Amino acid sequence: MKIGCHCGALIVDQADDLPHKGHLIPDQEWFATCDAIDGAVIDPVAAGRMDKEAAYHLARRIISRSARLMWQCRACGRLYIDGLDGQLRCFVPQGEPADREVLRSRPGPAEPGAAADGGRDPGSS
Ligand SMILES: [Zn+2]
Repeated sequence: MKIGCHCGALIVDQADDLPHKGHLIPDQEWFATCDAIDGAVIDPVAAGRMDKEAAYHLARRIISRSARLMWQCRACGRLYIDGLDGQLRCFVPQGEPADREVLRSRPGPAEPGAAADGGRDPGSS
């Protein structure tokens, strides 16, 4: 998937683990999602009625149905969020310089503070 940003840059989504992509779960869906995982996945596994492969698949499906995708332009910081109607909504950041890394969860592999395995640096929080 590619999104043409209003600034002229191209937002490319063709891999996993992207630092400029996020999955937004609205607060109105948060507890329903947690409850669905509890009731439809954890309880059946604990009771021996569901195997773990089925549980993995169902948990991911429950989380995915609640989440909407979002992307950030790394050139200008604009956020694009999937609306309920499936159309992208654009949000422009306030202030200079714009935070262009709002969806990133950890430093990139070549950046200061990056862990060797690419995980979160425990000393940075
Ligand atoms: Zn842009």
